[in-house]
Amino acid sequence: MIIGHLAVVGIAKLTFFERENLAVLAVASFGPDILDKPANILLGMPGRGMSHSLVVFAIVCILACIYWLRMTKNPRLLCAAIILWVSHLAGDFLQWRVLLWPFWGSLEPGPKFHFAEKLTSYYVEFRYPYQLWFEIICITVLLCIVFSKFFTGNALSYGSSQSLKSLLLKLAGKFSRESAQEKTF
Ligand SMILES: [Zn+2]
Repeated sequence: MIIGHLAVVGIAKLTFFERENLAVLAVASFGPDILDKPANILLGMPGRGMSHSLVVFAIVCILACIYWLRMTKNPRLLCAAIILWVSHLAGDFLQWRVLLWPFWGSLEPGPKFHFAEKLTSYYVEFRYPYQLWFEIICITVLLCIVFSKFFTGNALSYGSSQSLKSLLLKLAGKFSRESAQEKTF
């Protein structure tokens, strides 16, 4: 899932975390890859290595909580970052061996990450169907939100009265008015 992680950032930014920093959201969403991919390219470590495990996730959470408590930063941003990190782990459909490292045994070094090859294996050879479907769902949800925002001037934001429902009601109302006009003529 490559574009899917980006779509999740878009969904978060347009819904529950509109006021939160976009760069932090993006870094959290790609966090495990930001740590693991350079280690894979430079040191030959697994592309989905220890940074994709729950142990590293727990360490990152603890460090982030300490930093946030000291700096008395907005807790919503911390919450958003944690959710997006979890969404990355979920979207990657990780093996238990990776998720539960080091309790499930050691990780074997994987092939060197190559962006073009990865794109081909995802979108041309369909080697990861579950991830691809999950990605399609994320992109579809994002497009629905953007579509809703475009027509209603308001995304499906937290506490917002405008929503996809209102958009559908508007479209339904427009359709019924047009049908009534056709019948009149
Ligand atoms: Zn990943």
